[in-house]
Amino acid sequence: MKILPVYTYDHPILRKKLKPIEEMTDGLIQLALDMHTTMNNADGIGLAANQVGRDVQMLVINISGAEGNEHVKPITMINPVIEAYSEEEVPYEEGCLSLPDLRADVVRPEAIEVRYFDTAMKEHQTEVDGLLARVMQHEIDHLRGIYFFDHLAPMRRALMKRKLLEIKRGEVEADYPLHRA
Ligand code: ZN
Repeated sequence: MKILPVYTYDHPILRKKLKPIEEMTDGLIQLALDMHTTMNNADGIGLAANQVGRDVQMLVINISGAEGNEHVKPITMINPVIEAYSEEEVPYEEGCLSLPDLRADVVRPEAIEVRYFDTAMKEHQTEVDGLLARVMQHEIDHLRGIYFFDHLAPMRRALMKRKLLEIKRGEVEADYPLHRA
């Protein structure tokens, strides 16, 4: 299993709507394993395929290191679709492996109903809330080319301009390998 370099803002693949996976292949299974390794190495709790430069609708999540979520198993999601959102919305401070050193409170629905396929292409439908719902929404956004800062009010986004420019210019460091364009 390999640690893959993480693509950062403003690589064009991070703005792409990624291609659905029609058939699982050995290569895609390997990608899922490498994405888990890459995420865990970076102490991340979620990672989408375009964050390692791949144009496929696959994401991985592992929140078992977060307090109160020790029982939640690592998950790989293929072609996920959010079918319903709770009315209740909550703020939570988010970060992103593609945006080193950038954090902000993002308001999102507290619970979601989601449909996805696993790596055996078996379909699942589930309702999740709390941190798991939070991470799923963040990662599914990535598969559609959306960053967490896209959810912020323009004023708050403006405050991030300098940091975003630094990331874009490659003037940031991280404890995990970054893809340098
Ligand atoms: Zn992210």
